[in-house]
Amino acid sequence: MANLDPALLGASRRAAADAARVGITVYVNSGWRSPEYQSHLRREAVSKYGSREQAARWVATADTSPHVSGDAIDIGQTDATAWLAEHGGGYGLCQVYRNEPWHFELRPDAVVHGCPAQYADPSHDPRMQ
Ligand SMILES: [Zn+2]
Repeated sequence: MANLDPALLGASRRAAADAARVGITVYVNSGWRSPEYQSHLRREAVSKYGSREQAARWVATADTSPHVSGDAIDIGQTDATAWLAEHGGGYGLCQVYRNEPWHFELRPDAVVHGCPAQYADPSHDPRMQ
């Protein structure tokens, strides 16, 4: 997982080790992305969803994506996603968008306070403006 934030990487490894003890494999489907790859995904999303506004609900630009900055991971399996949704806050791993349950970012305060409320989708995230 090159270029991922080391704290995010550490938290996801700790969570994965604990999940493995109960038979759940936490597989990181997508972590860091290059700006070029993110731009490619964005162009694909614009053609798939028909407009920039619709694409923005699913795929950020290279300038705003937390994947490009190394601050996000996408989890591959639904059982792992469900396990992390329940237990991830204890590692500071939080879901951010209700329409992307597989997408987790590090929120260190979550260890004490729990995960913050999720945005409906990335177009509601002030970081994406
Ligand atoms: Zn993601």
